[in-house]
Amino acid sequence: MTNMMPHWLDKRADLTPNHIAIQQPFKDPITFIELKTKAKSLAKRLSSAGVSLGSRVGVYSPNSAEMVVVLHSLSYLGAVAVLINTRLSTSEVSHQLTDANVSLLLTSDEASGACQSIVQSLASPISLYSFSDVWRLGEKETNLRTEIDLNAPFTIIYTSGTTGFPKGVVHTYGNHWWSAISSALNLGLDVNEKWLAALPLFHVGGLSILLKSCIYGMTVYLLEKFDVEAVHHAIMNEGVTIASVVSVMLDRLLQWLQSEYYPSTFRCMLLGGGPAPKPLLERAAQANVPVFQTYGMTETSSQIATLSPNNALDKLGSAGKALFPAQLKIINENGNEQPAFVYGEIYVKGPMVTNGYFHNEDANKRSFHNGWLATGDIGYFDEDGFLYVVDRRKDLIISGGENIYPAEIESVLLGMEGVEEAGVTKKADEKWGSVPIAFLVRSDTKLTEEQVLAFCHAKLANYKIPKEIYFVDTLPRNASNKLVRHKLTRFIPK
Ligand code: ATP
Ligand code: MG
Repeated sequence: MTNMMPHWLDKRADLTPNHIAIQQPFKDPITFIELKTKAKSLAKRLSSAGVSLGSRVGVYSPNSAEMVVVLHSLSYLGAVAVLINTRLSTSEVSHQLTDANVSLLLTSDEASGACQSIVQSLASPISLYSFSDVWRLGEKETNLRTEIDLNAPFTIIYTSGTTGFPKGVVHTYGNHWWSAISSALNLGLDVNEKWLAALPLFHVGGLSILLKSCIYGMTVYLLEKFDVEAVHHAIMNEGVTIASVVSVMLDRLLQWLQSEYYPSTFRCMLLGGGPAPKPLLERAAQANVPVFQTYGMTETSSQIATLSPNNALDKLGSAGKALFPAQLKIINENGNEQPAFVYGEIYVKGPMVTNGYFHNEDANKRSFHNGWLATGDIGYFDEDGFLYVVDRRKDLIISGGENIYPAEIESVLLGMEGVEEAGVTKKADEKWGSVPIAFLVRSDTKLTEEQVLAFCHAKLANYKIPKEIYFVDTLPRNASNKLVRHKLTRFIPK
């Protein structure tokens, strides 16, 4: 079997040239033929800047149509896009550019000032071009790629760094292809599909929408960033059929929705990126919002398991089953598969799973075993084979011989009126070894420790009840807005 395919955007522009590729509020829509013409022209200009087959090019930009053009143009050159999270600090970005051996950095015009100082902080300097700088270059006569090699790398995206140092995940075209196909085999595909992208395109969840658009011939409704009113408007009035969100976004959308209902043409709210607290899922079910809970990670090029709303109520809290070409298993410390309801580490396998981390043999050795990726997440299957993600293995608390998962306690705390955010971690304890302690951001400043403990007593076994409660203004989060539990103890007053 060949690994070669026609270039995705050439093919798409040939099949449905006038279909809208990108719709944005207050801007002209862009068709697939327009997207292709722009991307090819930009590719020839990038070639003038020295970008060629195999070049690793940093892309630092918030969501925009210009960024979409840049990504396709890199693929016409066979270059690898290293997507940078714009919320990272200068030193974090410098580390990723150095680690990925990036030779040139492309930035949105607005971010070029910030990128100047990043580039200057590097030990070995690299060239910096704003998108407008590239458009000002002349087109160089270049043989643009007419085919895509499924085995060739297309993107490098760093993991969020929630449990340790971020790792560069290499995605091949084949990984992205199978991610798009797997999703369509599960969710189906409508001729009028319009997928809302408010997640950053520098994360794999956002990027995957863009690539699905090209592969499916589907319109993307692109927002620069999540804005509750803009997303609500798009779902209510702009014919959006699917939206990808993380739990904070869903929470805000539900508050905004109040007693209204989304139109029946809105068929999927794809929820991923982290744990979905049960109270949130219950509120969504009450509001008739068709939530599909998904499990995935940078390494799996977005979703690898998804729960459809048909099962949402009787399997509340589950992340569903592995997508058609993928497999999941639950493994104990001895490497054996666990029966239903027994906790273990989640292992994943499938054509959307990366072949490995960039230049990181240690992490590759630790994580890959006979074609399976050990995710570092703890989970279990129920009697029907539905996956439940419990927590990160690194965050497990062992207290007096009992296993405690912080996510369970956080989920309970988040169900309490007056609690806005919750983070749980461990503290050393002479008697029990470790005990759970909780950090809360209150929306009700009158909420007391006694009330919180009383609430926990009603919902949690004694050994899981936090031994200390701290009220704080914010919780430590990384550039992906994920809770970094190992930094919570910094909030304990000395
Ligand atoms: P790092 O690997 O650097 O510590 P990270 O794991 O947070 O960072 P991502 O790839 O952005 O980096 O996140 C993937 C992780 O998000 C998963 O491994 C899992 O822990 C969590 N996650 C994703 N979906 C779910 C879900 N449905 N339920 C619970 N956790 C989830
Ligand atoms: Mg991870």
